[in-house]
Amino acid sequence: GKYTKSDIIRIVEEEDIEFVRLQFTDIFGMLKNVAITASQLEKVLDNKCMFDGSSIEGFARIEESDMYLYPDKDTFEIFPWRPQQGKVARLICDVYTPDGKPFEGDPRYVLKRAIKEASDMGYTFNVGPECEFFLYHTDDNGLPTTISHEKAGYFDLGPVDLGENARRDIVMTLEEIGFEIEASHHEVAPAQHEIDFKYDEALSTADNIMTFKLAVKTIAKRHGLHATFMPKPKYGISGSGMHTNMSLSKDGRNVFDDPTDQLGLSKEAYYFMGGLMKHIKGMTAITNPLVNSYKRLVPGFEAPVYIAWSAKNRSPLIRIPASRGEGTRIELRCPDPSTNPYLTLAVCLAAGLDGIKNQIMPPASVDKNIFAMTKEERIAEQIDSLPSTLMEAIEEMEADSFISQVIGEHISECYISAKKLEWEAYRAQVTEWEIEEYLYKI
Ligand code: ADP
Ligand code: MG
Ligand code: MG
Ligand code: MG
Ligand code: MG
Repeated sequence: GKYTKSDIIRIVEEEDIEFVRLQFTDIFGMLKNVAITASQLEKVLDNKCMFDGSSIEGFARIEESDMYLYPDKDTFEIFPWRPQQGKVARLICDVYTPDGKPFEGDPRYVLKRAIKEASDMGYTFNVGPECEFFLYHTDDNGLPTTISHEKAGYFDLGPVDLGENARRDIVMTLEEIGFEIEASHHEVAPAQHEIDFKYDEALSTADNIMTFKLAVKTIAKRHGLHATFMPKPKYGISGSGMHTNMSLSKDGRNVFDDPTDQLGLSKEAYYFMGGLMKHIKGMTAITNPLVNSYKRLVPGFEAPVYIAWSAKNRSPLIRIPASRGEGTRIELRCPDPSTNPYLTLAVCLAAGLDGIKNQIMPPASVDKNIFAMTKEERIAEQIDSLPSTLMEAIEEMEADSFISQVIGEHISECYISAKKLEWEAYRAQVTEWEIEEYLYKI
């Protein structure tokens, strides 16, 4: 590990840290925390911090509400955006039951379990996400709007506007807390941005995604902006995705790379893709968890709709980017940044490993623009579609027992019942679109 218990106690003393936030993520991907003062640190580092899990959605029933937070010492970080006297630090924690067992409802544990399976096969799972988000204005009461005055597009460098300054500040802040930022740019839609950080081993990447979202929201607020990771905040313009770049390495070498293959891909790479494609419908409720997620997965905005792969174009679900050698990777394009990254990386890894274990070859690649094909042509080429609504995705999840096995019974039951309620609440709404469409003419 990076830090020992005494390292952390010393740093907290030397750096004048007053508060330590103990963080964890709930089933639905919401970051939670409880703050302790420096005086409690020793107890906390001995895994003696108890909290009431019954108030965390999906965590526990009232009769078994006591939970423990076991800090992962390597995640220790000082928040640069909090006061610099009496500083605030954080530790990301694992959730344990009173009898010292990992809690089944802890998404970080689900990912650790999948990673264990990979490491038993000799693999390290490396993941690099591309998180997109919008920066919108707030109104006079400080509440978020979907308004922005900027009109920039892909890779544009605007006049000095709030978005540009906020993005610069976000990048510098992330670098201060150890992120290696590879690129940042304006995205396709007005007020939409992307910041890419370097890939890492999956558990660190999932932690990083949670930290990234917190930092983006916090710094944007300082600039009077609201950062949102909502997948499709506006009809008619691009939504925000979280393309997920994945590779496996063994003994420090990328095992997806094979120069002797026509496309430069190894058997493992093809099988991993085959596993992903086999389970993708059952996984979509995890990778795309909101009613709103499915408003992004429509034709016309570079978001995937059809289950296919290509090493040439960007319209399918899976793209093989051009770089080879250590950069050889599979890019899954459906996840959006509202997902719980621990669960998404767990199901991606498990599905890929299932492909490797069972030698599942993916179908032939589709290198033409699928959106320009007719339904008959798609049927002839056996190109299936992703679920088109949250309800369809839940039904697919229920139909693939492999997925509930990966995320465990506790999370699976809780997730499905909550998502069904979300769908029912949405289904009963009367929308603006319906009023526009029907009120006058019917
Ligand atoms: P795109 O061309 O799709 O816009 P980006 O350059 O924005 O891609 O993002 C690429 C992501 O892939 C980065 O997070 C990068 O660190 C990551 N990446 C690079 N090599 C690997 C690899 N071998 N395994 C996993 N992720 C990788
Ligand atoms: Mg004190
Ligand atoms: Mg990108
Ligand atoms: Mg992008
Ligand atoms: Mg991409």
